[in-house]
Amino acid sequence: MKLQCKFLPQDDGCCGWYETLPPPPPSMPLRGNVRADWVVLGAGLAGLAAARRLAELKPNDDIALIDARRVGFSTAGRNSGFMIDLPHDLNSSDYTGDRTHDLEQIRLNRGAIDYMREIVQRHGIDCDWREQGKLHGAARDQGIRVLETFANGLSALGEPYRALNADDMQTITGTRFYKAGLHTPGCVLVQPAALVRGLSQALPENVQLFEDSPVRHINVGKPHVLVTDQGRIEAPRLVLANNAYAAQFEQLGLKGRLLPIYTYSSLTRQLSDAECARLGGDNSWALIPADPMGTTVRRMGDGRICIRNSFTYNPNVSTNDRQLARARAAHQSSFKRRFPMLSKVSFEYTWGGALCLTRNNGRPFGELAPGVFSALCQNALGLTGGTISGKLIAEYALGMESELLDIMLKQPKPAANPPYPLLGMGVRKALAWKEWRAGIER
Ligand SMILES: Cc1cc2nc3c(=O)[nH]c(=O)nc-3n(C[C@H](O)[C@H](O)[C@H](O)COP(=O)(O)OP(=O)(O)OC[C@H]3O[C@@H](n4cnc5c(N)ncnc54)[C@H](O)[C@@H]3O)c2cc1C
Repeated sequence: MKLQCKFLPQDDGCCGWYETLPPPPPSMPLRGNVRADWVVLGAGLAGLAAARRLAELKPNDDIALIDARRVGFSTAGRNSGFMIDLPHDLNSSDYTGDRTHDLEQIRLNRGAIDYMREIVQRHGIDCDWREQGKLHGAARDQGIRVLETFANGLSALGEPYRALNADDMQTITGTRFYKAGLHTPGCVLVQPAALVRGLSQALPENVQLFEDSPVRHINVGKPHVLVTDQGRIEAPRLVLANNAYAAQFEQLGLKGRLLPIYTYSSLTRQLSDAECARLGGDNSWALIPADPMGTTVRRMGDGRICIRNSFTYNPNVSTNDRQLARARAAHQSSFKRRFPMLSKVSFEYTWGGALCLTRNNGRPFGELAPGVFSALCQNALGLTGGTISGKLIAEYALGMESELLDIMLKQPKPAANPPYPLLGMGVRKALAWKEWRAGIER
């Protein structure tokens, strides 16, 4: 079986998280013929976790980890940095769903946070790791009702939270924009590009990382062969961690089931001391909108503000200047609505990144073909979801058993979608309608 990688990572070079880091040391691209015991495709959160876990469990095996770009340049380094412990279903109206599923989701997410915390501490990874929880903010009555439902859902799950009124929200965020809010304590915040770069630099010795090495095609067989322009890797076992890019793998039944959806962020310049004083509030906080289609906002300890909103359906897994410009304009008006006192503050960076979603929040976790294992599709919860699926796929491939693995294996598989072109029309219409419904929460 031959898997073609027609759509390769084409991300823009405008991601604020990556660009504000010091330049990385030179990469090691794949050259010539390499043989390994395992090959992991994609060095995002799932790939880094899978390679690390394999190396921990099989210290005498050689593990090759390969990525088309530098670590941190792709989506794993482009996200908003929320390591979310609670359910986060973007398809729902308030992030929650079925109670049993939610409880299982929490266990998986916390398993990921515990694993990541230990690695970050052990290796002293400098990624602005903050255990300060997240805010949910509502700007109007509809949002307040969503928060109430979310709060009831948390109570039923036995999860702690603190309800906040408009004054509390202003005390924390400095703005009067939010009419109500809620704080949940278990979310960890990170600088995502710094996190994944740090993880890649702290990989065990039996992992060899090849960056700047786009895989053009894969011959699935005995062994599997991954072919780049200047080399090839042969290995009897392959872990797929290329997330949205796997949507093109028709032969594995993923086409039409995995949905590559882009979302976008902008990062301001650093605020001056006078601007910080005018804004007021805490110097670091992170807010998720009451409506999942609303605007995520983070105030960073270094005085920058990050805005995230807008979704587009991009089946070719690449965005374009027009979509970026439209997202930037949406970010500007969202920023203006929240921070009228910062009218002179501009964005230094605007970027997009590919999520991999399914209609039913399902995941193609497991063995998709002999010796081909999948840690694909994080349904927008990549920091925790990617980490735990990478860790657990390594354990699964080695025949281990655990409660977390049982939970992961029980997750639904991705539901089939309507065929093209109906699929594209349907997804775009649904996104437009949901964004319209989010209204001022954007
Ligand atoms: C703006 C934005 C905000 C977000 N905010 C959050 C958040 O706050 N919290 C959260 O949990 N999630 C968030 N996400 C989602 C999160 O970033 C993703 O879910 C996560 O990156 C998925 O991790 P992954 O390892 O599965 O895949 P990816 O990070 O997409 O990694 C896949 C890797 O595969 C590589 N690859 C693909 N094809 C090839 C090929 N042919 N050859 C070689 N390499 C290849 C890519 O270069 C990439 O590095 C956000 C995403 C965006 C875009």
